[in-house]
Amino acid sequence: MADRTDPPTETLPGLRETVRARRPRRAPPPEPPAEVDPVARVLVDSPLAHLDRPFDYAVPASMAATAVPGARVKVRFAGKALDGFVVSRSAESDHTGSLTPLRRVVSAEPVLAPAVAELAAALAERYAGTRSDVLRLAVPPRHATTEKAASPAEEPVEVDPTAARTAWATYPAADAFLAHLTGGGSPRAVWSAAPGEDWPHLLASAAALTLAHGRGSVLVVPDRRDLARLDAALTGLLGRGHHVVLTAGAGPARRYREFLAVARGTRRIVVGTRAAAFAPVHDLGLVAIWDDGDDLHAEPRAPYPHAREVLLTRAHLEGTAALLGGFARSVEAEQLVASGWAHELSPPRAVLRERVTAAVAGATDVELDRDPLARVARLPKQVHDAVGAGLERGPVLVQTPRRGYAPALACERCRTPARCAVCTGPLAVPGPAVPPACRWCGTVDEAWACAACGHRGLRAPVVGERRTAEELGRAFPSTPVVSSGGDHVVEAVPDRPSIVVATPGAEPVAAGGYAAVVLLDTWLTLSRPDLRTDEEALRRWLGAAGLVAPGAGVIAVGDAAHPALQALVRWDPAGFARREAAARSEAHLPPASRLATITGDHGPVDDALTLLDRPPGTEVLGPVPVDHAGSRVVVRVPRAQATALSRALGEVQRLRSARKLDPVRIQVDPLSIT
Ligand SMILES: [Zn+2]
Ligand SMILES: [Zn+2]
Repeated sequence: MADRTDPPTETLPGLRETVRARRPRRAPPPEPPAEVDPVARVLVDSPLAHLDRPFDYAVPASMAATAVPGARVKVRFAGKALDGFVVSRSAESDHTGSLTPLRRVVSAEPVLAPAVAELAAALAERYAGTRSDVLRLAVPPRHATTEKAASPAEEPVEVDPTAARTAWATYPAADAFLAHLTGGGSPRAVWSAAPGEDWPHLLASAAALTLAHGRGSVLVVPDRRDLARLDAALTGLLGRGHHVVLTAGAGPARRYREFLAVARGTRRIVVGTRAAAFAPVHDLGLVAIWDDGDDLHAEPRAPYPHAREVLLTRAHLEGTAALLGGFARSVEAEQLVASGWAHELSPPRAVLRERVTAAVAGATDVELDRDPLARVARLPKQVHDAVGAGLERGPVLVQTPRRGYAPALACERCRTPARCAVCTGPLAVPGPAVPPACRWCGTVDEAWACAACGHRGLRAPVVGERRTAEELGRAFPSTPVVSSGGDHVVEAVPDRPSIVVATPGAEPVAAGGYAAVVLLDTWLTLSRPDLRTDEEALRRWLGAAGLVAPGAGVIAVGDAAHPALQALVRWDPAGFARREAAARSEAHLPPASRLATITGDHGPVDDALTLLDRPPGTEVLGPVPVDHAGSRVVVRVPRAQATALSRALGEVQRLRSARKLDPVRIQVDPLSIT
């Protein structure tokens, strides 16, 4: 009878922080309580939003030494045995009467650090979710065998401080940042990496300096390949024995072993992908994120926190330094600079001019006069020449936005998109001399005929990286061509002439940098229907262009008048971010506003809106029907009301949960609204 033991609804959060968990009707035989601090405050792992707060339990004498703050326990809750974490121990409960005793201590290992418990509370509030959900992301599942083994001891730190500071010499403001950091301060900076920068080395240097001065670091990167580079850079600077790599892909035993080394304080530098942002590093001094605009930093599980926000919240709560680096600058990072929260670490103009020359080919009137085919040619003569010139010096990178061979097809005569006769999915040609096939159901269509005009010829309006590689191979017959994208990503290429065709994010690293970088089909990247399209396009281009060798050229094929391409040519990610921020502000979009979506069946979404205590200036857009999810509304408020909106949405979830109403999905600051 779960209902009878549910805590009464008048104890909703906001009214009282903790309530007494009721003793079950058939009480176990009484056991003497712990002599010291017989009360344990426990966060119970429950998906129910209205129960998302600590509850007090009695600590039996037999568990006095093991039910330590941070330990995993089993408790009886609403008639069920549930998992929980002890968040604190105390002499007394705020509540009179007897408390239910803890059932059992799963492990005395303190895996939930007080700072992480506090972080979880802050993030649950910001994202209108529950602490349980945040903790599921923050604390990896227990692996009992691993827990029995001791963690390797911390090695003595040997850092060459001069070398570590010299790594940052390109950035005039870095000296002050590092001095403040090593002096135990909490400087905050948004770092615009210069083209060709060996950024893993710089991040590793900052972490090494921090460690040499007695503090730990958390460094978060978007993906496995960035992680491998950062891992190597740290090993190069500090040797093994100071850092761990935290990644969900490592497997449960390894992941837990690395996590424990951090929780036990024998490793104080953590590098990892988004979940590493929660690592319970002792004496945390620095949090850093690379390329915070990459959507891999956004957690797809509730409450959908973004690694940047997790780290910034930590910087705030734990008083640490913060560093947001990238070749590009996100609008959110720009907001931190504009508000004065963070300083800028940017290379001087002269360094930029020395390191890279960027140009746009194919659309200016001058170029059209010189090369009339530029408007239709995918590879204008200027690009062909740039590739040829680059190949005399080393590898040339060609970025193309789409994977595959010919990922989209259309009728050659009337341009109607070619669709599958079975399921209406898009037809594509997966490789050379292969018939078209459906990208959804796989049906091969040997005898396609246009549904609109009956014509049998197909054209490929969009060309993938493999077809591009084939075309370039024909244009430069004696040059090796490497293709990287999708499930065949190449990690690195040697320092000799070759053409490397890659999709965004799959660009191999060239040891000495690329002799030239070509960005094809920029129109395609700019045509995605999303509020971040331009920002994302520039981020992708700068990510590729950032891999240049000193003094190399970048050439993009596209419309030279487009602001994103102009920002590339001037290498001005900051100016572009300022412009984007202004446009977002005008359109009432984040980060100038806080925006949330409520998704679910039509009735529950409507109810949720009624329950929502709207802060001043709230705008409601919708509801609109969405595929597979019923309906959705967008709620937004000016930035000053951001916290109020998050709290109000959290309250909606608690009210709905307490009344056992159908769930709605609430997402605060979603990455995109499609
Ligand atoms: Zn046709
Ligand atoms: Zn099909």
